[in-house]
Amino acid sequence: MEIAVLLKPVPDPAQYDKIQIDPATGILVREGLKTVINPEDKHALEAALQLKEQYGGRVALIGMAPASAVETFREGLAMGAEEAFLCSDRAFAGADSLATSRVLAAAVKKAGPFDLVLSGSTSADGGTAHVPSQVGELLGFAHLTHVIQFEIGSDGLASVRTKMENGYRESRGRLPLVLGIRRELNTPRYISLMGIMAAQGKPVHVWSLDDLGLDKGKVGLAGSPTQPGKLYQPDMKRKGEVLQGEAWEVAQRLVGIFRSTGILG
Ligand SMILES: Cc1cc2nc3c(=O)[nH]c(=O)nc-3n(C[C@H](O)[C@H](O)[C@H](O)COP(=O)(O)OP(=O)(O)OC[C@H]3O[C@@H](n4cnc5c(N)ncnc54)[C@H](O)[C@@H]3O)c2cc1C
Repeated sequence: MEIAVLLKPVPDPAQYDKIQIDPATGILVREGLKTVINPEDKHALEAALQLKEQYGGRVALIGMAPASAVETFREGLAMGAEEAFLCSDRAFAGADSLATSRVLAAAVKKAGPFDLVLSGSTSADGGTAHVPSQVGELLGFAHLTHVIQFEIGSDGLASVRTKMENGYRESRGRLPLVLGIRRELNTPRYISLMGIMAAQGKPVHVWSLDDLGLDKGKVGLAGSPTQPGKLYQPDMKRKGEVLQGEAWEVAQRLVGIFRSTGILG
């Protein structure tokens, strides 16, 4: 089975307090921040590796990110993927989810053919959950997101359980498919020392706009129909006050504070 895993490098959660918004452009300033594999994408990769163990085939990682994210892709290779395709070009900067999906779909086509495209359902930073469905539409593959369980029979028929607000839904479909995976699906494997060493010799192909044969007006900021509203950093300063005295007295003062701040009506 030929499987592509969409892998997004995201800022390391341990550094979230260092993320800034450029006041002029309203775009997140990510330079200098260590990136990690988007948490749900690790679950997608684990699912792909388990299918490869069951049916044979290959697992390829595909992502759009600055070239500096290559080490994050090495981590995915160390988990067990065969090769990585990193789409990286200045023309891709400022992409919204549609412009991102165009690049990813073009890379899936070029690196394929694939029977299955697995991704996370939602990224930890952008978090729109648009990309899996958009990539599916652009490829002409059926797509489902919020996948918490799935099986693929040797006849290529997939049974998929997706999480919904008040329960879950069972669907059946034929490959090729795009599935957006949630963390409930599995537990990603630990990366072994052997895996880390093997990853150093695995290919990471870096593809530019020209390699993908895309129109410059369809990618990056130029190809993004989304017009973000005003972005600002909330004032995160906190004021601490220690209330002292008898329990009843402290409780009364606490209720007073809650009322004055609008927490209690
Ligand atoms: C106007 C505008 C400008 C922006 N400019 C920038 C910018 O300059 N730099 C920047 O980094 N972001 C930028 N963003 C954010 C960027 O559009 C999103 O991060 C991107 O489109 C993916 O959307 P998401 O994070 O909501 O993905 P979701 O749809 O929440 O992700 C779901 C899954 O899709 C896959 N996926 C998503 N994105 C990628 C990817 N890049 N590579 C591989 N797999 C992926 C992953 O498997 C992920 O788990 C901008 C957004 C807007 C609206």
